Order: sequence, then structure tokens, then C-alpha cells
Amino acid sequence: MIEIVSDLAALRARVQAWTREGLRVGFVPTMGNLHAGHHSLIELARRHADRVVASVFVNPTQFGPNEDFARYPRTPEADAAGLHAAGEGTVQISVPRVTETLEGAHRPGHFDGVATVVARLFHQVRPDVAVFGRKDYQQLAVIRYLVRDLAFPIEIVAAPTLRESDGLAMSSRNQYLSGSERPQAAQIQQCLQWMRDALRAGETREAVEAQAATRLTEAGFAVDYAAVRAPDLSLPEAGADGAARVALIAARLGRTRLIDNLEFEL
Ligand code: AMP
Repeated sequence: MIEIVSDLAALRARVQAWTREGLRVGFVPTMGNLHAGHHSLIELARRHADRVVASVFVNPTQFGPNEDFARYPRTPEADAAGLHAAGEGTVQISVPRVTETLEGAHRPGHFDGVATVVARLFHQVRPDVAVFGRKDYQQLAVIRYLVRDLAFPIEIVAAPTLRESDGLAMSSRNQYLSGSERPQAAQIQQCLQWMRDALRAGETREAVEAQAATRLTEAGFAVDYAAVRAPDLSLPEAGADGAARVALIAARLGRTRLIDNLEFEL
């Protein structure tokens, strides 16, 4: 059964009643325009909780001035659940260090917006468990620091990335892609796999990153980054066999900015 709650008092009352009954409450924050990836997070939350709250909020504070806030797809009628959070406030949460590279470097203020709104949603919903997608790898790291350092009593569960049949990670932004861009977009995941294979074959991190950027540029992408990092997103030492790595790409195809990543072992 789905219930749409659009005021905070009703949400709190509902969650408090569940909590009093001893039910475990799961939470999946989204920006709406729900696709199968989001639904997989809700399914995963169901397995970790007795009741699940999904929020829909296109968070203005995580978009930069030249980003796609105005045209971000909003489909409230089609989305299964919604709750409206209020607009921008005064307090800002800023997670240091992990936000300085990759997405943080290319989208100034983005993670402050994410951290602030997620902290607020956590207080509003008070879940026992919250599910975030591995597709937004760095976001997941930011959320883990947020929960640890602000002592939220919330378990964070990471969900695998749902993909189209050609490997393109599902995203609300995929619908910006033109007919000819859509098949090209699958090259991001292919390039991540190439990066993994080249590292395993003994190429250096620097060489792999440079060649990946060249490949993507030649394929028509404007590359923000193609990077190899340790799981905590620090720069890895030259790795022994079996060392865990993550390759991450952010690149634009026409007007569409795409991100994806691949976790693997050397
Ligand atoms: P968004 O609505 O894009 O802010 O995403 C809401 C949540 O869904 C985040 O935790 C994302 O990481 C997750 N998500 C987005 N796309 C996917 C996908 N293709 N597979 C799994 N989770 C996803």
C-alpha cells in the first residue's frame, strides 16, 4: 500500500506510530522521475525494514548555477511517493576532504546541498535504515561521513547500480540523450571496464586515466574526469594483486552529463 504524505506533521505522526509499534523504518531519498534503479533501492529498503518512506525532492541546493535544475525531469504524478521538503535554509552542512575531488571539484557546492538536505530529511523521517545507490559512489561516501560524524542512528545500505541492457547506468538524465547519443552513452561503462583491464594488465594509474580521457574525448565526450581511486576515494599507492579499486567517470555528451563507476580488485 502506498500513501502520499505531503506535510511534515503527518509524516512524523506516521513514522512515530510505526516506531511505537516496534516497526523498523527504511528510507530512500530521491529527486523523483523514478526509474527502475530507484525502485530497486525501495525493494532493497523493504528487505531491511518493515515500512519504507521514499521522498521526492528536486533539491535546488545541489545544482550549480549553470546546471540543469530548471529542466530536471519532474513527474510527480508518475512517481510512486512524494513528500515536499521546504526550500533553502540558513544552516549548511559541509563535509570536508572527500568532497574536494571528482564530483566536488566539478560541481562546487553540490555535496553541501546533498549533505544538508539529506541531514534534514533524516531528521524529518527518522528512519532506522536508508538506502543509497552505488551509482553515486562519492555521494555514498559523503553520506557515510555525515551519519558517522553527526551520529545519526541510521544504518546506511548501498544498492547496486541498475543498468540498461547495453550497460548504461539508469538515470533520470538519460532522457536528455538524443537518438544518436543514446548508443554512444554505453561507452562510459565500456571505458570503465577497459580501465579495470588495463590496470590489471599492469599499466599505471596515471597512464590509464590519461588514455581513458583520450578515448572518451575521441568518442565525442567532454570529459570531466576519468579516475582510479582507492575505495575511500584517496589516491591509491601502486597496488598489490587483490587491492580494491574504483574507477569513476564523469563526462558530457551534448547537453547531458553522465556519471558511472566500476568497483573491482586488481
Ligand atoms: P536521484 O533521484 O538521481 O537523486 O537518485 C536517488 C537515489 O537513487 C540515489 O541513492 C542514487 O544513487 C540512486 N540511483 C540512481 N540511479 C540508480 C541506478 N541506476 N541504480 C541504482 N540506484 C540508482
